[in-house]
Amino acid sequence: MPIISPSNTPSILNTTDLSPPQISQELRNQLPLPDNLPIVNCLARARIPTTQGPEIFLHLYQNNIDNKEHLAIVFGEDVRSKTLYKVRPNDTQQDRMTRGAYIGKLHPGRLLADKDEKLNLELKFNEEGDLIRESNTTYNGDPILVRIHSECYTGETAWSARCDCGEQFDEAGRLMGLQGHGCMVYLRQEGRGIGLGEKLKAYNLQDLGADTVQANLLLRHPADARDFSLATAILYDLGLEDIKLLTNNPDKIIAVEGKNRLVKVKERVPMIPLAWKSNNGGIKSKEIEGYLSTKIERMGHLLEKPIKIN
Ligand SMILES: [Zn+2]
Repeated sequence: MPIISPSNTPSILNTTDLSPPQISQELRNQLPLPDNLPIVNCLARARIPTTQGPEIFLHLYQNNIDNKEHLAIVFGEDVRSKTLYKVRPNDTQQDRMTRGAYIGKLHPGRLLADKDEKLNLELKFNEEGDLIRESNTTYNGDPILVRIHSECYTGETAWSARCDCGEQFDEAGRLMGLQGHGCMVYLRQEGRGIGLGEKLKAYNLQDLGADTVQANLLLRHPADARDFSLATAILYDLGLEDIKLLTNNPDKIIAVEGKNRLVKVKERVPMIPLAWKSNNGGIKSKEIEGYLSTKIERMGHLLEKPIKIN
């Protein structure tokens, strides 16, 4: 099958080590990564109680490179966005509570955003209106568990067994809930960045015999058209500069760190498909086997396939 367009995320690492990859600044500078991070601005944050137990804080972002509403699903009330909390011109305490720039817990009749009198916690700001990130009010602790998740309508909503996106999303949330802190950056880049319509065409090509990489190339898309610089910018805005990244994809580690390493991956936490871990759970379909094989064999993912005995 002819290669029509190259992947824009070359695989440069070949290791199953969980320690972060070591590459020189010189090599990092040569990678097809943007020189500067996009500008992001957190518009709103809200507490979401979940059906799974833990509360999450959903953050909605706008940015200067596309018109999509990217999200950060944050575990932990004390993880605070720099842009959301920054004092704005004519900002009132009511405005701040409405957009979610408060500390502690909202309750009927509360008047102050910056101070939770019941919990005796107060946020402080410098002369420029920037939040002072004090350790008793704002998370600045150990490297936090992070997952960078690209939107997958079919896997998350339409019960697709062609990929494991829904399962990985659930598992990442479960691990973050157990830890009490974590951040899932949810990027609106459907189908590895090619969009849902093109992804559906790629599925038909897969049914005609192409693997996931070949199908994208036949449609004249790169094998992986995703851009993770938005995720880096969002993590930096949340003050999450040291992270433990849940991923099997070595290219993602470098992509998230970018050229300037404003966000550093201190540890890689692997995501093992549930169906490989036990016999009763996880996704079982012939499509998912092909999908995972392609990730391992064609895209350099760091997964050890189990040996089939039968
Ligand atoms: Zn998917």
